[in-house]
Order: sequence, then C-alpha cells, then structure tokens
Amino acid sequence: MGSNVSEVVSPVDGRPFTEVPAATEADTDAAIEAAARAFESWRAVAPGDRARLLRRFAAAVDAHVDELAALEVRNAGHTVGNARWEAGNVRDVLDYYAGAPERLSGRQIPVAGGLDVTFHEPLGVVGVIVPWNFPMPIAGWGFAPALAAGNTVVLKPAELTPLTAIRLGELALEAGLPPGVFTVVPGKGSVVGQRFVTHPAVRKVCFTGSTAVGKSIMAGCADQVKRVTLELGGKSANIVFADADLERAAAGAPASVFDNAGQDCCARSRLLVQRSVYDRFLELLEPAVRGFRVTDPADEAAEMGPLISAGQRSSVASYVDGADVAFRGSAPDGDGFWYPPTVLLARGPDDRHWREEVFGPVLSVLPFDDEAQAVALANDTEYGLSGSIWTRDVGRALRVARGVDSGNLSVNSHSSVRYWTPFGGMKQSGFGRELGPDALHSFTDVKNVFIATE
Ligand code: NDP
Repeated sequence: MGSNVSEVVSPVDGRPFTEVPAATEADTDAAIEAAARAFESWRAVAPGDRARLLRRFAAAVDAHVDELAALEVRNAGHTVGNARWEAGNVRDVLDYYAGAPERLSGRQIPVAGGLDVTFHEPLGVVGVIVPWNFPMPIAGWGFAPALAAGNTVVLKPAELTPLTAIRLGELALEAGLPPGVFTVVPGKGSVVGQRFVTHPAVRKVCFTGSTAVGKSIMAGCADQVKRVTLELGGKSANIVFADADLERAAAGAPASVFDNAGQDCCARSRLLVQRSVYDRFLELLEPAVRGFRVTDPADEAAEMGPLISAGQRSSVASYVDGADVAFRGSAPDGDGFWYPPTVLLARGPDDRHWREEVFGPVLSVLPFDDEAQAVALANDTEYGLSGSIWTRDVGRALRVARGVDSGNLSVNSHSSVRYWTPFGGMKQSGFGRELGPDALHSFTDVKNVFIATE
C-alpha cells in the first residue's frame, strides 16, 4: 500500500492515538483487481465449503468480541455495552448468511419443448462504503450477504473509524477466506470510495452515509449502470397517542434518540405527542433525560459517550443555539467531544431542528391533535427510514403503520434492527434492503436458462 497515512483520533479525549495506511488510487485499483481475480475461484467454491468458511469467520469474530469492542470504544466513543453488541451482530449476521449458499436456489418454470431453470448468479466485486456511526454492523450487513452469494468484497471504512474494519479483514484471513475474497481498503472517500464507483470491475456499491454523498454515488454509478444500495439519513417520528402506556414510552424515548450519541440513522429524533397528554408526557420524560448516563464509554454503566468529532459537535450545537430548550441532561467537561442530551420544543414543523437530520443527542418535540394530523406530520419530511407508534388500539397501530412512509416501523417498541428481517429506507432515506433474505437476492442477478429437449 502507498505511503499515505491517516491519524486516528479518540473522541473520548480528542487526541490522536494511532495511524493507519490511507490507500491511494493505485492501491485501490490493485485491491479491486485482486478481488476480481479472486471472484473467479470464489464463485466456484462448493456451497457447503463457502458456508463452512463463513461459519469459521463468524467463530473468529466471536472469539474477538471483547477486543473488537475495545477498539470501537476508543475509536468511535461507543459505550462498551453497545460495542459488544455491535461485534456480536457481525458474528450473528455471518452465521445467518452462512446458511445461504446451500439454499440459494433458483426455480424450474414449466415450458413446452424443454426445461427452463433460473440461477442466482453472483455479481462480481462488491464495494461496501461504511460511515463512522456504526462501523462494524454496517460493514457486516454489506459483506456477509455479498460473500454468501458468491461475490468478493472490497470494503472502505470511514476515515475516522477504520480500526475494527481492519481487524475484521485480518480475522477473515485467519479464518481461511482466500486472499482477495474480502479486502479492507482504508482511505478517503474521495479517493477509495470514488474508485469503487468508477472502476468497471466493481459491479455493485453498497453505501451508507449522508444523503448528499449517496446522491453523488448514485449519479456516478449510473455511468456504468452499476447496481447501488443506498442507506441514507433519517428523521424518524416517535408518535405517542393518549391511550399509550405513557410510562413505558417515556422510559424508552431517551435511548431511542440518544443511543450512540444520536448518531444513528434510525434515531427517533421527532417526538409527536397527542396534545391531551403532552404536558404529562414531558413530565415523565424529563427525569429519564436528566438521568441518562453520559460518561467515559469504557464504563460499564455508560449509556452515551462523546460525539465522533469536534466538527460534529459544532454542527449539533448550531441546531440548539437559539432554539427553545425544554430540558437537558449533563455531559462531562474535558477534552473529548461531549454534548449533553437535549430536548427542544419545536415552534412548528418548519423549525430547522425539526426538519433536518441533526445526527446528535437532540430530540425535538411537537404536539398533535388527532391520528390524521400525526400521520401527516410524520410524513412531512424528505426521509422515511424508521419510527415508532405508541398506542393500545391495535386498529390504530396498523392504520398508522400503513400510513407512515417509512421502511421500518415498530409498535410499542423502539427497536429497528433484527438481522433476519429486512432493513432500509423509503423516499430520500434510500432504497434497497439490507439484512434478511431480501439482502441476499440484491447481491445476485437472476439468470434464465432454457434447454431444448426436442
Ligand atoms: P459521508 O456520507 O460523507 O461519509 C460516509 C462514507 O462515505 C465514508 O466512508 C466516507 O469516506 C465516504 N465518502 C465520502 N465522500 C465520498 C465520495 N465522494 N465517494 C465515495 N465515498 C465517499 O458522511 P459524513 O461522515 O461526512 O457525515 C456527514 C453527515 O452525514 C452526518 O452529520 C450525518 O448527518 C450524515 N450521516 C448519516 C449516516 C446514516 O447512517 N444515515 C451515517 C453517516 C453520516 P470518508 O470517511 O473518508 O469521508
């Protein structure tokens, strides 16, 4: 790899603590071309053998969960509890897709004069571009199904958070994946990521990150009719009806937006509360927000760590300056990129903090009067990724779930992700589905073969 390096800074104290190589364009081309060569043999590996290698990769991740978690605590400021979950999620996703090679079957379609069958053919080299907010899971959601379907993968971690990806690349080799099948290429988006878009041997780009970069990647991929999956921003609504279990909804609301310091595309950052219980709900919410534990992320009791960078902290602060603060929690003083959990009262649906993805620990609150208005306000956004509905009325829960234009909704819950169910956005939150069986098929092309018998 070329001589460029990037400094890696810990958001916990704001200090650089290591450096990693930053690939040049020539390095990136070499990695892509090695992946293209490896594809020719990987696609031909017997399904049972491919499954076994993925299970060994999963076992290697499992044996290193604590080590991977410690890297993420330092590099991304994730709480140690979350970071362990994230490493475990990579293991689980690999295990889940290890079941796929032997089940990825086509169909036999009745025709006259012969036999017609379909095959799910791998695409070739898949480029996975990962953001800094969830470096491990988002990487795994791309590379595990891609590898299971017979593709080879080049993976670009975010420049701010390359360490766990680099370690996962080493573990893949230790587990016996042939060289070139899964290659981590750390470096800049404008160099490495762009080359994934422009190099003709990359047949699909899986991108997670900002909507602006996602649009430019989609435009770039059009040139070669390259497949693309986009998982972009969100501004998800958390809708609380008057008949809901208010105590439960309020207890879970802080984590639904402040988890990962709010740097979560699924963050329920717009809280809509029915007017008749609005004051009561804020009374319940306040102690939960004030008590949210923001501290050294290596502390087992931590619920939130710092933001990723000084730049992200200034960006978050720019939404809070001049807004109506209802109440806020506390955050440590010190050199890290700390910011307290903050609840803002929206003056209306045109407030900037209500409309834009803040990507920080900021919750905006607005009252609504009835079901129709709740759905209209929830949909009054360019995004459509996630959201929650709190009510004891089953009919209403289903009506609202069908009415809100969002790829992932939960009723009386704040969960968004299960590795065996589909995940992805509507509108400008992107398209294509990760996880579950849908993701697997997005890494293949259907080929139809007719064999004449007459
Ligand atoms: P970006 O969209 O810039 O970065 C995401 C990934 O894309 C990184 O690996 C980045 O590389 C890479 N990249 C950047 N530019 C290009 C390019 N031209 N071609 C190919 N790859 C590229 O997100 P940011 O890190 O700048 O975050 C900015 C904002 O985006 C956040 O504040 C947040 O609002 C939103 N965001 C949303 C996410 C989500 O999950 N919805 C995730 C991350 C960010 P590099 O690290 O080298 O820049």
